[in-house]
Amino acid sequence: MKENYFGRPEKFFSLFSSITNLKGVGPRTARSLNNLGISRFRDLLLLAPIGGIHRVDINYFGEHKNPAVVIAEVIVLSISQKSRRSPIKVKTQQSSKILELIFFNYRLDWVKKILPEGQKRVISGKIEHQMFPSQIINPDYIVLPSERIKIPIFEPKYPLSKGLSQKFLLNALKHALDKIPLMQEWLDPSLVREKKWPSFQNAMASLHKPSNLEDLNNRSVARQRLAFDEFYAHQIGLAIARSKFRRRRGVSIIGNGILVNKLIRSLRFELTFCQLEAVREIKADMQSSNRMNRLLQGDVGSGKTVVALISILTAAETGGQAALLAPTEILALQHYETVSSLTKDFGISVLHLSGRDKGGVKEKKIRQIATGEAQIIIGTHSLFQEGVQYKNLMLAVIDEQHRFGVKQRISFAEKGGYADLLLLSATPIPRSLVLTSYGDMNISIIKEKPRDRLPIRTAAIPQRKVRHVLDRLESSLNKKTRVFWVCPLIEEKEGHNFLSAESRCSLLKDRFKDKRIKVLHGRMKSDEKDLLMQEFVDGKLDILVSTTVIEVGVDVPEASIMIIEGAERFGLAQLHQLRGRVGRGDRASSCILLYSDRASLETKKRLDVLRRTNDGFEISKEDLKIRGHGDLLGVQQSGFPTFHFGEFTSNLALIETAWSNARALVDTDPDLVTQRGLAVKDLLHFMELESCLEYLKG
Ligand code: ADP
Ligand code: MG
Repeated sequence: MKENYFGRPEKFFSLFSSITNLKGVGPRTARSLNNLGISRFRDLLLLAPIGGIHRVDINYFGEHKNPAVVIAEVIVLSISQKSRRSPIKVKTQQSSKILELIFFNYRLDWVKKILPEGQKRVISGKIEHQMFPSQIINPDYIVLPSERIKIPIFEPKYPLSKGLSQKFLLNALKHALDKIPLMQEWLDPSLVREKKWPSFQNAMASLHKPSNLEDLNNRSVARQRLAFDEFYAHQIGLAIARSKFRRRRGVSIIGNGILVNKLIRSLRFELTFCQLEAVREIKADMQSSNRMNRLLQGDVGSGKTVVALISILTAAETGGQAALLAPTEILALQHYETVSSLTKDFGISVLHLSGRDKGGVKEKKIRQIATGEAQIIIGTHSLFQEGVQYKNLMLAVIDEQHRFGVKQRISFAEKGGYADLLLLSATPIPRSLVLTSYGDMNISIIKEKPRDRLPIRTAAIPQRKVRHVLDRLESSLNKKTRVFWVCPLIEEKEGHNFLSAESRCSLLKDRFKDKRIKVLHGRMKSDEKDLLMQEFVDGKLDILVSTTVIEVGVDVPEASIMIIEGAERFGLAQLHQLRGRVGRGDRASSCILLYSDRASLETKKRLDVLRRTNDGFEISKEDLKIRGHGDLLGVQQSGFPTFHFGEFTSNLALIETAWSNARALVDTDPDLVTQRGLAVKDLLHFMELESCLEYLKG
């Protein structure tokens, strides 16, 4: 159960009270509701219907589409049940025809009571015309002819979890709607007029008491209004955080260029135009006394690390500290090794703080951070754990930022004091997503990859030809190539015709007896994972079979073959990320996508996008087109905000309006004290974003 936030106004108490207060909701139902993320009345309101039931009164309109949900007046003829376990059959007459009502899991005496023989009743349910006589299984309404009006012509349909019925949800929602307190309009009246939006209360009512399918459409004014409310609340939160971020001014960082030039001279390559451009933009941000808040986007292998390192050295040149944050221990270690070897004789101290450091070692490192002895500090989110104090942190770089949640990011920004913030991302993020996640973050993009990079040859091959793949693999393995083999599952599951990582691993071991092959999967402890990964990095393994845990930017230049089994199970962007694990060295690399023999033409077309292009931005655009909203980048798992009504990939215009309106409001009424500001506070309470209000104090 969620905690009650301090500061929730009393008028919301009833709406936010536990759903168990509703008559008839016991622990069982509560658990089922919890599975849908519902514990309070308010949560119910956010449950968007997935469709609607339109009942056709066949006494008035005659037969309807087959099968359809109907309302019909019947005369009960007879009731029978073969044995105690079998369904109960009720034969009825409906105008001149016979209609059978079938009851599964009902008690005979109950059915007899509610459908007395010889009497008229009005029933409703889905009619099965294929049967003869026509049947209705488990009618959803049975009422007296005089109560016909009690059966709704149109009803929303909700997603169910085990143990819940539509009827229960409908009833519970009625109560939830009644508990919405009086709230003033929080949106700009001219916007509401222009869009012809209903009030929030009316929008909720039309969502949960729709009169037709139109009302439930994503494009309906009610849905649009609610989507906007959600975006708007979120943007208000971001705008408040931003104004706070701004209030705390940064410091101007101007390096003398000594370390940076030394680095650039020692590189075995020239920086690309895009890298130089990004460096220039970051430098300008660092020089300004506003805090930098910049996202550096570049496809896998585009060379973001060196750009980050240049920024880090710029901070170091002024005597300040810089932190580089990675999402996993192994990646942190890799960054540490790269950075310390590149800056070997620079006379600066690079420190690796591992989440696993304990006791004296940990204390010593924390002391070095506090005294400023450590200048470049590399690690996972342990860098911002309690007890870690920086002497003079000027820059925090967060690698693969989408792996961190929004809350975690805010905490970095918080703990960072005055530090500039640079986020690195290999995942091209659509502008709508950037807006919803960060508000007005500046973006630098590395569009091109280093020129000398050999393209990764990609082939999509049906599973039945796996033998050829293995034959080819054999000769590559004999040439000392290291291979990634990715499977979508850890263990076999019924109904899937591809192999799990574990069974693939043992098959490969049988086939290549003299090769060193191991399996890595997400269920292993992170120590174990790191150890295994390290073995692969060090060349102690020939094939690393794994689930998608290797997705994050580990650099193994010697690995030049990537095989992805059950490729149709992955999104294109994800496949591209996986593919990016190879092609980092000077060998020609290849990626083989194995797909199910039963894959559709559609699937093959989709996979073909990867064969055609190596450009991550292009690929994510295609992915978006094919899959629509939602699943891109595995958004859910990756810390991007999720919305109940809004679809951030298709509602860009709405998000932009929400952003500009939110900004305008927070600029003119930063403490939310005007009439509209106060109304907006209600919205924040409803959306449970009142924690943003805490910012207003500081
Ligand atoms: P990512 O953007 O995925 O983090 P990295 O920063 O790890 O990519 O860079 C991938 C590889 O490319 C590294 O081995 C790096 O040394 C190399 N690299 C970076 N910039 C260039 C460049 N301009 N020319 C050639 N190689 C480069
Ligand atoms: Mg990287």
